[in-house]
Amino acid sequence: MAIEKKYCLNCSEVIQGRIDKKFCDDQCRNTYNNQQNALSTNYIRRVNHSLKKNRNILEEIIPAGEEMAKSTRARLLSDGFQFRYFTHLYETKKGNLYHYCYDYGYLALEGDWFLVVKGKEV
Ligand SMILES: [Zn+2]
Repeated sequence: MAIEKKYCLNCSEVIQGRIDKKFCDDQCRNTYNNQQNALSTNYIRRVNHSLKKNRNILEEIIPAGEEMAKSTRARLLSDGFQFRYFTHLYETKKGNLYHYCYDYGYLALEGDWFLVVKGKEV
């Protein structure tokens, strides 16, 4: 009968005992779980940071006292805008799809252009 060796997810040592064990002991399990939690916390923090940065980039595109402005993809990208991060979508009755980063949104126009809008909260 083949004996399958199991390795601790934390320290990679061979696990003695029951085959369904994933860790050598409680300490290894705790260390591993804490690391996993820290990784997901870091990920959430990075995404939140990117969303806020996107929002601030959109805010800066709109001149003070105005509600909207046009910008190009090239400018947004050079400002560091990351198109994959947004908080929600809003589709108008006409079928225009706005991507929002919190309270600022944008709509893709013809060619390389975008309409950036402020405060049309859904
Ligand atoms: Zn271990």
